[in-house]
Amino acid sequence: MHKPNVFLVGAGPGDTGLITVRGLELVKSADVLVYDQLGVKGFLGQVKPGCEMYDVGKFAGNHKVTQDDINKLLVTKACENEGKNLVVRLKGGDPFVFGRGGEEALFMRENGIDFEIVPGVTSAISAAAYAGIPITQRGYTASLAIVTGHEAAKDSSDIDWASLSGIGTIVFLMGVKNLSLICENLIKAGKSADTPMALVQSGTMPNQRTVTGTLATMPEIALKHDIQPPAISIVGDVVRLRDKLKWFENRPLFGKKIVVTRSRTQASSLVKELSELGAEVIECPTISIVQHEDSQEFLSFISEHKKYGYIIFTSVNGVTGFFEQATRCGFDSRIFADKKVICIGPATAEALRNIGIIADFVPESYVAESIIPYFENSLKADIAILRAEKAREILPESLRKLGHNVKIVSIYRTELIRPEPTEDMSDLLRNGQIDFVTFTSSSTVEGFSEMIKGHNIENDKVPAAVIGPITEATCNKYGYNIKCRAAEYTIKGLIDAITKEF
Ligand code: SAH
Repeated sequence: MHKPNVFLVGAGPGDTGLITVRGLELVKSADVLVYDQLGVKGFLGQVKPGCEMYDVGKFAGNHKVTQDDINKLLVTKACENEGKNLVVRLKGGDPFVFGRGGEEALFMRENGIDFEIVPGVTSAISAAAYAGIPITQRGYTASLAIVTGHEAAKDSSDIDWASLSGIGTIVFLMGVKNLSLICENLIKAGKSADTPMALVQSGTMPNQRTVTGTLATMPEIALKHDIQPPAISIVGDVVRLRDKLKWFENRPLFGKKIVVTRSRTQASSLVKELSELGAEVIECPTISIVQHEDSQEFLSFISEHKKYGYIIFTSVNGVTGFFEQATRCGFDSRIFADKKVICIGPATAEALRNIGIIADFVPESYVAESIIPYFENSLKADIAILRAEKAREILPESLRKLGHNVKIVSIYRTELIRPEPTEDMSDLLRNGQIDFVTFTSSSTVEGFSEMIKGHNIENDKVPAAVIGPITEATCNKYGYNIKCRAAEYTIKGLIDAITKEF
């Protein structure tokens, strides 16, 4: 039997965690991805290299892509490459809830193309849930209707308002433009003007906004708060439960905009934790980490490693880079068997632990200087420092002054990426609408200032959150506005400091 090669996949409402396991699997293995903007943006970076991407959003480029065009594109792509293309049609929410997925499936069938449907989490239910409104609740409602607000304006409206007024919870999609008409029609059909109502804009996303009122007051409230699509409207007594069940908007960093400048490979834990605390995170890596490939320096260290009694790792990158190279050269962690291993901070120690080595010493303060006292009273030692190509010289210099023999082995270098700041981010910075720009090393500060150079952003408008004193000093060099500093010089310390500000 022929295996289907077209998949209509629901992407969920916007929060990228709300796609199904099956859906994400398909997105990652797609040869062709056909999408519209709503709710799918977060997945576009997850496709495999070489995946053909088609934005068929209502106004992709300048022209309107019709449903007909989309149907034909799907068939063409399904047939290309001897029918071996894996074609994913990714749609916001659920493909069959006002998503025209049914029309696309019918067209596939008519053209003899096999397909599968992967349902998604619809905004009709999830945006309400994220606003703290359960769309059904015992004692409040026994029925639920999901209605298109698009039809409300038509003369011979397809909506049976009289029947609808008898439903306990009514959710309207695409209802912002016709909000007044919707409220009017429901009241006319007998629904009480006092029926509670909520609008949830950009539900499940970090910029979610919710307003509540009644059928009578909502049009004015929406206008006053400038509610824009995408938004759902919820009409019914269940809206009252929001007062008690509101949760998403209660998170400590909800509504805050935070820029993360760390390299993409390192940023994930910071991005994830800030997002989980509710922040809108703008990822803007200003540096990248480039691991050295079997450098002469590394090879000579390996050949004489027995000589060194002490190894100092100054960063996670040093640990991962070192072991990648060592593995390639046929060595493993046993080269450290008879050595003392020292790390500057707990993240580095954790990276070592992951490969089976427990650090002998981690100083209490996580800066290079704090390692020096450890060696103050020791006999002359042979110490290797495995670190970035360019780093402060205070540690090796001080150790040499104490009489020790110090070898620096550079494992990686950081490169400034010099990305162009997006128009959006520049505007937000200029208008003071970014709450924090996080800096986790001096190189991220250097990278950031290179990036904003020539973009008319005043340095004292950069609200810096810094991981430690060295990074803070670099920020001061540029005159950034230091808004908060980590008490413990770790990512966790930085997150704690930011959270404390609110
Ligand atoms: N298939 C989608 C709906 C597509 S119709 C689904 O199941 O969710 C587009 C409408 O969906 C928008 O006009 C808006 O009413 C609603 N919508 C989609 N995403 C939304 C979101 N994140 N928050 C609020 N409403 C959303």
